[in-house]
Amino acid sequence: MESLSNQEKLNFLFEKIKDCNRCPLGKTRTHVVFGEANADSKVIFIGEGPGKEEDIQGIPFVGRSGQLLSQAISEVFQWTRKNYYITNIVKCRPTIDLKMIKDRAPEKNEVEACLPILTMQLEIIKPVVIIAVGSSAAKALLNINQGITSIHGKWHDYRGISLMPIFHPSYVLRNGGKVSPQYNLMKLDLEKARDFINNN
Ligand code: SF4
Repeated sequence: MESLSNQEKLNFLFEKIKDCNRCPLGKTRTHVVFGEANADSKVIFIGEGPGKEEDIQGIPFVGRSGQLLSQAISEVFQWTRKNYYITNIVKCRPTIDLKMIKDRAPEKNEVEACLPILTMQLEIIKPVVIIAVGSSAAKALLNINQGITSIHGKWHDYRGISLMPIFHPSYVLRNGGKVSPQYNLMKLDLEKARDFINNN
């Protein structure tokens, strides 16, 4: 295993979990949304869970909010998608009913069932920084109840890894998208992460 590249180790892990049914979300998903792309990245972006488009395509953050996040990352880091790794706390889409019309936040039991997969991804990638994208992701990782408005932009620790919470891009979209103050705040928080990485 040690002689394998990080990408090969992730591929191996994906093969092991691609038919996972450890929680109820396994029954309604279309695809397990494992994560992508740079297995050697110093930064890993972690959201709460896949939405409708992600479930269809099997790729994280590909809907409207994902495109906004990609835009902010591009403006701050000058990175394309192949430069960093992005995934979610839960790998299958949480929906409010079996018709899969609306998204919802993952339940505690779903987070607990799925976190071991994220833990293994972190052990393989060994990032310097975790960007927790949105309130649910930050709460799940940090085991806190504070809202994103009070914790974004401040450094936290997740198992020895520096963690920066940022606004979720869907929240930014609801507040006006690229012209909103929330977009600028999201970029300011990303700039802190960029500067930290450049100095480490
Ligand atoms: S959300 Fe995670 S634990 Fe639940 S079925 Fe999907 S992969 Fe398995």
